[in-house]
Amino acid sequence: MKLTHFNYRDGGLRIENAAAADLARRFGTPLYVYSRQSLRDAFSRVKGAFSEASTTVCYSVKSCGNLSILKLLREAGAGFDIVSGGELYRVIKAGGDPRKIVFAGVAKSDDEIAKALEHDILMLNVESEAELDNIQAVAASMGRVAPVALRLNPDVDGKTHAKTTTGKKENKFGIDLANASRLVRNIAEQPNIRLLGVDAHIGSPINDVVPYRQAMERIAAFIRDHRSPRAVLEYLNIGGGYGSLYRNERVPDFADYAAVIVPHVKATGCKLIVEPGRSIAANSAALLTRVLYVKDNGFKHFTIVDAGMNDLIRPAMYDSYHFCWPAEYDGIPPSPLFDSPGATGYFQREEEEAGIVGNQALRNIDAEGLILTDVVGPICESSDYFAKGRRIPVPERGNLMAVFSAGAYGFSMSSNYNARPRPAEVLVEGDDARVIRERERYEDLVAGESGS
Ligand SMILES: *Cc1c(COP(=O)(O)O)cnc(C)c1O
Repeated sequence: MKLTHFNYRDGGLRIENAAAADLARRFGTPLYVYSRQSLRDAFSRVKGAFSEASTTVCYSVKSCGNLSILKLLREAGAGFDIVSGGELYRVIKAGGDPRKIVFAGVAKSDDEIAKALEHDILMLNVESEAELDNIQAVAASMGRVAPVALRLNPDVDGKTHAKTTTGKKENKFGIDLANASRLVRNIAEQPNIRLLGVDAHIGSPINDVVPYRQAMERIAAFIRDHRSPRAVLEYLNIGGGYGSLYRNERVPDFADYAAVIVPHVKATGCKLIVEPGRSIAANSAALLTRVLYVKDNGFKHFTIVDAGMNDLIRPAMYDSYHFCWPAEYDGIPPSPLFDSPGATGYFQREEEEAGIVGNQALRNIDAEGLILTDVVGPICESSDYFAKGRRIPVPERGNLMAVFSAGAYGFSMSSNYNARPRPAEVLVEGDDARVIRERERYEDLVAGESGS
């Protein structure tokens, strides 16, 4: 799926109708810029794709949890998938409906469980027998009944990065089917638990429908085998993990995922919950950053920008690919994100050149004016980079660069490492741009610390 509200026209990148160069001048860099219409469109595409089942779309807050973004998705009809008490706080602040909140995560504290019960959320997804026992205890102490789903570990291979696969038996997530079976049978001994359903989340991103089909077969069979008056199992939650285009990979549409999920849900008669995060947020934002310095050590060329891994950690953490291109550029960048004719050749060449970046011949500026470079940040770590061995138009100090597909696990994973204030976030709607999170100041870095 190409970018829909990010276009190059009139000499540069526009996010909806706002020129990236203007935004960078007005709000400074590094800067996260979100398109409201992209977020809305992505949400309505998921909703539409799963509309054949009775579906609640619970947006995954951890992918990108700014209050304004939660609010606009809430207005579009979203429920929320949370993984902490802090995310519950965010969703409630954004006016989210507690009856559409599901709470996942392998280790909910007593306080988090109590807060979830106080807010009367839809359900807690339980990830172990010990956690189930503790939810029973907390609910009993409050005189309440906790609505829960059992998170199954269906032991399927999502074939994604080792750090983001969650549905295999060696992963810490969920309960294996044999133990889940025993827990369902014993649930009658837990008077303060009401078992509403089962859930799974097999990893992210999963650019293939086959793991979902395998997981659904196992989950649907589990539901058929374990339904009883004490275990109504009316909800089937298949989690998130749907892909988003970063480079030139093949990403299924929501409709493709729905085609392998919905028939199994219908056969069980369950209500469906899906928890997309990345597939809504990733291509709804770019990170704008300015070139501070250009450096050539005779072996390699570096483009040093003012954003760092503290602002966007995905390349360092997951070896992930983000398309990077100058924001001021006359033409259409060679990427499938822009559906441009030059994309195929660009990526073919990139693959051919991968691993031979030290070759002197490759370092010359080519006929199209592109130079082979590493786009890196200012942080004191070699893993602080956005692109390695990448061809971009010859950069100069002061140029504005866009790091695309930065909306999911971008700002939400940012930190203050190297005592760097986190960037501002801006939400664009048409011509209009407003700050939805202010750039942090140095005072924010020491807030709460003693010692001054
Ligand atoms: C992170 C997470 C998601 C969202 O995954 P995406 O790849 O962003 O869609 C959904 N459900 C659970 C339980 C998660 O932990």
